Amino acid sequence: MNRDATKIQLDESEMPTHWYNVVADLPAPPPPPLHPGTHEPIGPEALAPLFPMALIEQEVSAERYIEIPQAVRDVYALWRPSPLYRARRLEQLLDTPARIYFKYEGVSPAGSHKPNTAVPQAYYNAMEGVKRLTTETGAGQWGSALAFATAQYGLECEVWQVAASFSQKPYRASMMRTWGATVHSSPSELTEAGRAILAATPDSPGSLGIAISEAVEMAVQREDTKYALGSVLNHVLLHQTIIGEEALLQLAKVDEQPDLIVGCTGGGSNFAGLFFPFLREKLAGRMDPHILAVEPAACPSLTKGEYRYDFGDVAGMTPLMKMHTLGHDFVPDPIHAGGLRYHGMSPLISHMYELGLFEAEAIDQTTSFEAGVTFARTQGIVPAPEPTVAIAAAIREAKACKESGEEKVILTALCGHGHFDMAAYDAYFAGELTDYDYPAEKVAEAMARVPVIGG
Ligand SMILES: *Cc1c(COP(=O)(O)O)cnc(C)c1O
Repeated sequence: MNRDATKIQLDESEMPTHWYNVVADLPAPPPPPLHPGTHEPIGPEALAPLFPMALIEQEVSAERYIEIPQAVRDVYALWRPSPLYRARRLEQLLDTPARIYFKYEGVSPAGSHKPNTAVPQAYYNAMEGVKRLTTETGAGQWGSALAFATAQYGLECEVWQVAASFSQKPYRASMMRTWGATVHSSPSELTEAGRAILAATPDSPGSLGIAISEAVEMAVQREDTKYALGSVLNHVLLHQTIIGEEALLQLAKVDEQPDLIVGCTGGGSNFAGLFFPFLREKLAGRMDPHILAVEPAACPSLTKGEYRYDFGDVAGMTPLMKMHTLGHDFVPDPIHAGGLRYHGMSPLISHMYELGLFEAEAIDQTTSFEAGVTFARTQGIVPAPEPTVAIAAAIREAKACKESGEEKVILTALCGHGHFDMAAYDAYFAGELTDYDYPAEKVAEAMARVPVIGG
């Protein structure tokens, strides 16, 4: 295939057969999760009420490659391998000697990378006799992905969607119902956690933390029910490595190696999925890409967060995990990249950041949307708000190449389309987007409530 190809495809028969577990190649393992009450390290069995054994084993595994079950590959084949595009029209507009490639995950049924993990999570639960999965969703991408995945294996699915997003994005819930899921606005009257919030604040807009509490509460009550999480955890990052494994094969077809890999980070899963396989190659001395994570300036957990033990949810029900955090009860400003509004970062990604294996920066939302519009007007695809932070960084680097004359190869993941986010684009066109300053005071307040471990 020649270098001028616009769209680099793989045949179904070339689809990778294994996920890659980066833990096998790290100089030190990530710190263990701690019990929320005793602060002692927890064993895998502590997670058994929430997750099936197969996923718990993957969560703590140090095996380098884990085979993708055939029944998962069969569902992946509905949209995978996903295309790798050369952004030639964007390059022409920027008049840059850089070559920009993007791996497009918006071709999945739910419109993002999230089905890459929703499908194996549903599969392993079904294999272990689970009948029903509960989860939360903020922007609606994860709930959609799990609703689709559970339909593939005959499981019931119950989703608690943050009230603000439930009313602003009704079509996400319609999509989930079409795949057979039940969707509740959170806080709901169905759980103790929800009723407590509603009693105090009848018109609560909800939050991811409240929705997690509701979904977890419902999962632990019934023997036939478990819970599913769409980012942050090791097994989620593992499943997403299908993105980078395919991209490696696709770039090899056009005889290219990336000089820069750039991705957006909320909980860290799509970025991890893209770069882990390339990092393996880098650590083995086979290539030397610069690796960059980009996060929104209003919720900069990696660049401004402290690396310490904190809870994954507002209520403090989850195990304590060592991660970059802005404080578990920090509520980020209402930026439109809803998938990036999480107070913490994946513990594995946080650990790797401390090891100096990649760099990170934060970008504000007007710069991001400007880049998203430039991308849409050249490449055609309207990006979800989340990946526009990475597109903005890629465009800046490509412009720098014009100045320096460098022919850099830039690789990014376009992790979702923005078809359910058009109100955000309208707000941008109306000049109504705010660039929030880094909320130093709010973060300091939230950090004061993070538990002190071993002090
Ligand atoms: C959920 C989501 C994100 C953020 O999650 P990560 O785990 O950081 O990938 C980013 N983009 C899209 C399109 C999403 O749906």
